[in-house]
Amino acid sequence: MSRVLEAAGSASLPEFDLYIDGRREKPIGGAYFPTDNPYTGEVWAQIARGTSADVDLAVAAARRALPVWNGLKPSERGRLLTKMADLVEANVERLAGAEVRDNGKLFAEMLPQMRLVADWFRYYGGMADKIEGTVIPTGKPDMLTFTRQEPLGVVGLITPWNSPLLLLTHKLPTALAAGNTVVIKPSEFTSSSTLVFVELFEQAGFPPGVVNVVSGYGHEAGAALVAHPDIAKIAMTGSEAGGRKINEAAACDFKHVALELGGKSPNIVFADADFEAAVVGAIAGIFAASGQTCIAGSRLLLQRSIHDRFVERLVEIAGQARIGDPMLATTHVGPVATSPQFDKVLQYIEIAKGEGATCVLGGGAYTGEGAQGGRFVAPTIFTGVNNQMRIAREEVFGPVLSIIPFDTEEEAYEIANDTPYGLAAGVWTSDMGRMIRASERLQAGTVWVNTYRVGGVSTPFGGYKHSGLGREGGIAAIKEWQQTKTVWICGKPDTNHPFVMRH
Ligand code: NAD
Repeated sequence: MSRVLEAAGSASLPEFDLYIDGRREKPIGGAYFPTDNPYTGEVWAQIARGTSADVDLAVAAARRALPVWNGLKPSERGRLLTKMADLVEANVERLAGAEVRDNGKLFAEMLPQMRLVADWFRYYGGMADKIEGTVIPTGKPDMLTFTRQEPLGVVGLITPWNSPLLLLTHKLPTALAAGNTVVIKPSEFTSSSTLVFVELFEQAGFPPGVVNVVSGYGHEAGAALVAHPDIAKIAMTGSEAGGRKINEAAACDFKHVALELGGKSPNIVFADADFEAAVVGAIAGIFAASGQTCIAGSRLLLQRSIHDRFVERLVEIAGQARIGDPMLATTHVGPVATSPQFDKVLQYIEIAKGEGATCVLGGGAYTGEGAQGGRFVAPTIFTGVNNQMRIAREEVFGPVLSIIPFDTEEEAYEIANDTPYGLAAGVWTSDMGRMIRASERLQAGTVWVNTYRVGGVSTPFGGYKHSGLGREGGIAAIKEWQQTKTVWICGKPDTNHPFVMRH
């Protein structure tokens, strides 16, 4: 952090400006803040610190663009979104590189993520001219009753630091296909990739003002966006604490809200599972992306009869993970994206030790070969965890696995569901009946059986309980960005009793 502060104000660093009404704009307050590379810890750029005055300009531009965007034929909006997909595909390496420099995730993971970003634009580009209302048979004579799907208006998209472009894309093409215009507030830790990404909208030929970006802090630019009276919906991906504040603020003027929040997902391994596949699934669940994914399988529930053998194999494989430069294809575990997050993960490791959990792998910062000056946490595994410990209840968002033993299937479901969260769950078993029972019993927005961390644009994604509100992805998600209007057309002048509602 000290290096961040030292370099603040350095004139030689590149500056990233706001993007409003199709133009790069300096922030009205004139301030910038530094951003650093998680692998080296070096500050490499300055990001515009947008405030409420900039948000006002961006929302006004998006309002002016609404009739322009909706004046286009739906097929033309779809064509522009599809053009975006082509441009993303043509730029996957550049975009993936921008992500790695911002958030430290593996290039090997960011590259397919950028291809997925293109898939999302193509999917919702194809949907833009297929959004239909319905004609409803009301049984009333001389009456035509139908619904129209209309956009909400100007919507605010607030994103986190862990996969900035993919998580933005879980919202953006759907919102645009539905006819909305947008103001984006990226995470203050990873704003540059979004500010690079918006260039592609210009290249695709989107009308100015349809997509705007105001970078800045959550309590400044973010809060101003949430409070803005002309914003119809706020869709945020981030922490439970941030989501709660946004939900409370948005409730004041009845904004639509969608929240994709945290998780403490159970990954349950039964004794009859394919042992090696389950070991790989457990590792993918927690050590991929250094555990910085909302769907991390951070609670590993092991049936007691295989517990010791499983832990031994897990430690053997995870202990060989290569830690280092996220740009190298040979690296397995990259750095932690932000300085506060690094401190938080290390604190949770100490909390777990203090609670009496047994650390069987890792247990602190990694400073060995390949670490450079980066923020690395060694892959860490705790056994002897029970579900009441903080390490089992609170989201760590780092490469820290808690292992909890269980005896019966019923006990596994009880432990799995005993959490405020409900984003995802994994189950490893060869029993078909148990696969079906587990998919019914687990309280989570996604249940994976004999696999983990799979996703795609065509499947709904979202959380139960404190993991969020709303669903992203799939055909039905388009409705979350629209409002339904019911129209009654009476073909014959209505001469009924005016004082009584017509049934
Ligand atoms: P965060 O809540 O700190 O910040 C997320 C975004 O919200 C940032 O852009 C931030 O500036 C903004 N923000 C914060 N407070 C705000 C406020 N009061 N008003 C308006 N904006 C505000 O989260 P983070 O640390 O950036 O992201 C990590 C979290 O995101 C983890 O909890 C993780 O589980 C969650 N996450 C969820 C999903 C999902 O799909 N469910 C996906 C990825 C990450």
